[in-house]
Amino acid sequence: MLLSSLRRRTRQLGVQAGAVGQKAVLGPGLFGLARPSERPESGVRVRFGPSPTGFLHLGGLRTALYNYIFAKKHGGSFILRIEDTDQSRLVPGAAENIEDVLEWAGIPPDESPRRGGLCGPYQQSERLDLYLKATETLITRNAAYYCFCSPHRLELLKKEALRMRQTPRYDNRCRHLTSKQIEERLAQGCPHVIRFRLEEGAEPFDDLVYGVNRLVPASVEGDPVIIKADGFPTYHLANVVDDHRMKISHVLRGTEWLTSTAKHLLMYRAFGWEPPAFAHLPLLLNKDGSKLSKRQGDLFIENFSRNGFLPEALLDIITNCGSGFSGNRPGRTLEELVSEFDVTKITTHSALLDLEKLPEFNRIHLLRRIESAAWRQQLVTELRALVEKVYGEKLKDCDVLHTDYLERVLLHRKGHITRLLDLVSPAYSYLWIRPLVPREQIENLSAEGEKICSVVVHLFQAWPNGGATTAELNSELRALQAQFPGTKYSVMMKLLRLALSGQQQGPSVAEMMLSLGPKEVCERLQRAAIH
Ligand code: GLU
Repeated sequence: MLLSSLRRRTRQLGVQAGAVGQKAVLGPGLFGLARPSERPESGVRVRFGPSPTGFLHLGGLRTALYNYIFAKKHGGSFILRIEDTDQSRLVPGAAENIEDVLEWAGIPPDESPRRGGLCGPYQQSERLDLYLKATETLITRNAAYYCFCSPHRLELLKKEALRMRQTPRYDNRCRHLTSKQIEERLAQGCPHVIRFRLEEGAEPFDDLVYGVNRLVPASVEGDPVIIKADGFPTYHLANVVDDHRMKISHVLRGTEWLTSTAKHLLMYRAFGWEPPAFAHLPLLLNKDGSKLSKRQGDLFIENFSRNGFLPEALLDIITNCGSGFSGNRPGRTLEELVSEFDVTKITTHSALLDLEKLPEFNRIHLLRRIESAAWRQQLVTELRALVEKVYGEKLKDCDVLHTDYLERVLLHRKGHITRLLDLVSPAYSYLWIRPLVPREQIENLSAEGEKICSVVVHLFQAWPNGGATTAELNSELRALQAQFPGTKYSVMMKLLRLALSGQQQGPSVAEMMLSLGPKEVCERLQRAAIH
C-alpha cells in the first residue's frame, strides 16, 4: 500500500513484470515468477548482466565468456539479463547488439530476453513490480525507508563534506521519520526515494578470487537508494532481487563490483535469502597497464568482426592474457577453454591484453577453420562475396568465383594469411584479376622470357591432375633452368612472377602457381608469351 504511488508511476510508464516483448518458453506466473513446478533444477546458474548503455566491447565479452565457460564446465546454465534500470543512459539497439554478439561469438545464453526461459522476463525494465514488491517487504521489516530529502539538501551535504575533506555520504536523516510524517508527506505528493538501511554488522565474505573481504558498508557510506524517484530500482536492489529470483548460484562479474558486494549481502540478509557465491574478475588492461580505451569504438566487438577477426580468436586472446588456466598458449578452442578452465586459478592480477598479437591468434584459428571441410565451405561462400564486392566489374574471368578455385586458394594460402580479408588486398589481386604484362617487360628481363613461359606452360599441361607440392614444383623449376643458360634462376623466377601476377613481390612462384592452379597458370603464361 505504501508503494502505491510508485506503482502508479511505473504503470503510467507502461512497465510491469511480464509485459511487452517477453518470449518465455513457458508463461511466467504472477509477476513473471516461475511457478514452483516450472522452477529449474538447482545447480550452477550464472548470469551476465550488462547495462545496455553501449555496444558490447572486449571487457564485456570477457565477463560473458568467463560466465559461459563456468556454466558449461559445470553443466549449468548461462543467463543473459539486460540491466536497463537506468533509463537515462539507454542506447537504442544496445540490448539487441549484446545478444547478437554473444551468438556471433558462439557463446549464446541459455536464457535471455530473446530466448526466454523459466525465470523471465530477462530485461529488468519488465520486472519493476518484483522490485516494488521486494521493497515492500524491506519496508515492512524496517530494513528500508522513505526518504524525502531534496536534491538541494543532498547537494549541500556533499559540498559540506568536501569542504571538510570528507567523503560525501547521506546522513540517514529520513531513517527517523514517523509513520505519521511519512503518510503526510506522501499525501502531499512530496517526491521521494526509498533507501536501504545499512546495518552496522556486516559479516566478512569469501570471494572465490579475492578471498576474505571485511568491508563494513555502513562505515563508509550512507544508506543507499534502492528505488529512485522515477519508480525504477537502482542497480543494487534489482541485482539482488534478480540473482535470487533467477536462482543464480555464482556471480562472476568485474572487480569494480567487489566493494558493492558487502552491501548486497546485507540485503540478502534483510530478505532472509541465501546469497550466491561471488567471484570477481580482475580488470582487463592494455599491455602497458593503462585502461582499455573505447575511443572511436575500436574495442567494440562489431568492429573486430567487421575487420575480419574470428570470434574464436577474440575468445582465445582475452583468455590468454589473464588467468583461470594453468598456462597460456594461443590457439585454444572454446571446447578447450571450457575443459581447461579452473576458477581457482583466476588470480587478482589485472589481465594485460596485447592486441598486436590478435592477427597471429586469428591466423591460427583461420587455419583451423580452413582445415575443417564444413567451415571451408562457408569460407568459400564468404570469400566469393568478398571478391565480388571488392573486384566487381573487374572480374572478367569468372572462373575465379568457382568453388574449386576459391577452395584451392584457401588451402594454399592457409597459414599465410591472418584474415580472409587479406585475400582481397592489393597484394593478392593477382588471384582474381589477370595481369596485363607488356611483352617488352618480360623481354627486358631476359631474351629467353617468351621461351621460358612456353616451356612452363608445357610443364603444367603435362602435370598430373591432383596437383603437386611446393617442393616438387620447386625442383621442377630448378631443373628447367638448365635449359636456359642465359637466364639466372632468380631472374627466371622474377620473370615468371611478373607474368603470373604482374607483381614483383608476393608468395613464392611455386606457391603462386599452386594457388592459381594449372589452367590459370597456362592461360597467363600463354598471354605473356604472345602479347
Ligand atoms: N549491470 C552491471 C554492469 O553493467 C552488472 C554488474 C553485475 O554483474 O552485477 O556492469
